[in-house]
Amino acid sequence: MTLPRGVRAECHWAARQILMDRRLTQVERRSALAHELEHVHRGPFPRHAKVKEEAAVNAAAARKLVDLHALGEALAWARHESEAADELWIDIPTLRARLTHLRPAELRYLRGRLAHHDVDEDHHGTHP
Ligand SMILES: [Zn+2]
Repeated sequence: MTLPRGVRAECHWAARQILMDRRLTQVERRSALAHELEHVHRGPFPRHAKVKEEAAVNAAAARKLVDLHALGEALAWARHESEAADELWIDIPTLRARLTHLRPAELRYLRGRLAHHDVDEDHHGTHP
């Protein structure tokens, strides 16, 4: 199925179907499907709530797709967000959603993981 430009996938509530654009890459399909499944989980919503609902769905889908420890490992070595997204097998918007909606404890973990990474790099840099 080919969906309108900018629409990767959508829920058709009456037919109980999720439609996906056939042109998506595997990573885009994985990210889009997680997003639509989260919509299914949460149920239909009124049009006026769209912005808030989409943000909540993006956050929940990203959390399901990206394990915190895997995120820490990817961020420790990736030079660009595209490398981190590739490593985590997600698209960049999903990576950004995961990072935007980190819980305080997750943020503390990542700060610790990445601070440790910096110490390791210094160590290797001065003592090859
Ligand atoms: Zn959506």
